[in-house]
Amino acid sequence: MALRFYNTLTQSVEEFAPADGKTVRMYTCGPTVYNYAHIGNLRTFTFEDVLRRWLRARGYQLNHVMNITDVEDKIIRKAAEQHKSIQEYTEQYTRAFLEDTATLRLERPERLVKATEHIDDMVRAVQELEAKGFTYTTDGSVYYSIQKFPEYGKLSHNDFSGVRAGARVDVDEYEKADARDFVLWKAPKENEPFWDTPIGPGRPGWHIECSVMAMKYLGATLDIHCGGVDLIFPHHENEIAQSEAITGKPFARFWLHSEFLNIDSQKMAKSAGNFYTLRDLLAMGHTPEAVRYVLLSVPYRKKLNFTFDGLQAAATAIDRLRNFKLRLETEKFADGSNEQISARTQTALRQFEDSLDDDLNTAEALGAIFEYVRDVNTAMDSGEFRRGNVEAALDLLQRFDCIADVLRPTQKQESGLADDDVEALIAQRQQAKKARNFPRADEVRKQLQDAGIILEDTKEGTRWKRK
Ligand SMILES: [Zn+2]
Repeated sequence: MALRFYNTLTQSVEEFAPADGKTVRMYTCGPTVYNYAHIGNLRTFTFEDVLRRWLRARGYQLNHVMNITDVEDKIIRKAAEQHKSIQEYTEQYTRAFLEDTATLRLERPERLVKATEHIDDMVRAVQELEAKGFTYTTDGSVYYSIQKFPEYGKLSHNDFSGVRAGARVDVDEYEKADARDFVLWKAPKENEPFWDTPIGPGRPGWHIECSVMAMKYLGATLDIHCGGVDLIFPHHENEIAQSEAITGKPFARFWLHSEFLNIDSQKMAKSAGNFYTLRDLLAMGHTPEAVRYVLLSVPYRKKLNFTFDGLQAAATAIDRLRNFKLRLETEKFADGSNEQISARTQTALRQFEDSLDDDLNTAEALGAIFEYVRDVNTAMDSGEFRRGNVEAALDLLQRFDCIADVLRPTQKQESGLADDDVEALIAQRQQAKKARNFPRADEVRKQLQDAGIILEDTKEGTRWKRK
């Protein structure tokens, strides 16, 4: 089956290939760096990571641009509260965002671009929209007149034809019921930072930023534009209105949106006391891999109900996979190859790939792998699994992990034991045992244990893993 995605624009599942057949030109709305990203934000970024990895597994190259929104209403307010410049204020959270996404093993987009480094481009875009008659100016601010763009509403599938001409909105985020002419360029209020430009002093609205940076680096028509469902309106609707007014071409061929994350079936909110950042979860002792697993385990178009039981179950699932891999790598199997198992491995691979081709159905893809692990563990126990089946099984796990990326344990900073150190200590323990120096052997075992290393003595020697 061909690769296909649900396209918010057409409200249908469509076959996907990049326009040039080779490189996927993709834009994803990045963070507004006024705070630490919470796990709801990180769910969207994890979905985009899985999308990246699967597009590449399907043989495509990527040109992926993500913006960093480093000037916006909330940032200006917060920076002023702390008597900091916008740059000082946003720098700490930009760094934190990059650290958190690296911890979660999210691949870096090919290009990360900051809004404040593209003010000139945005000013030129506003001038173009002015020249084409899509704007008007009031009190030094420039607005986009949505009546001038008859297709307004085509992404969110709303009919805005009854909206009163000239009703305006200055804030970056607003509800559907408030569809209004939106601000492209904001005149500065008292004590607000601003840029002096040919269209007057001020700062860009949030929406123009993404249109401008997307088209600057990816061209008039993108292959894929992504974001959370909360961005469909007004943000992405406005991006389409701006970009298509400038170019007269479709702005993006595919629009992919990921659903919300709830905590214990409730909306995550600071006021509800159920608001978590990645840092919060790590401080509670959870691993980045378990968080990553939870975030990717639910298909992106379904609401994800985050629970601590679910996070615990993710850690157990990862352990099962790691133990399976260890077994493949260390157990001695009888010679030969079992044809039935070869066929079973092929089936699992096909199920895994078909599931991801089907609009990234990660739940089914994981299901296919776990059923396989269960079947093969049984075959190993009964001696049916042969040495000749190992390679294909490991290959399947590797293909799985190219997407899931959970098999490698995060090195614990505090344990400080590199793999080589662990191996050396295990060798020392073997020698001590051979020399019947059992106190020394126990001492080494204890040392490893304290560093979070678990030993398992088998017929074939000692296996180890990190806690
Ligand atoms: Zn955006």
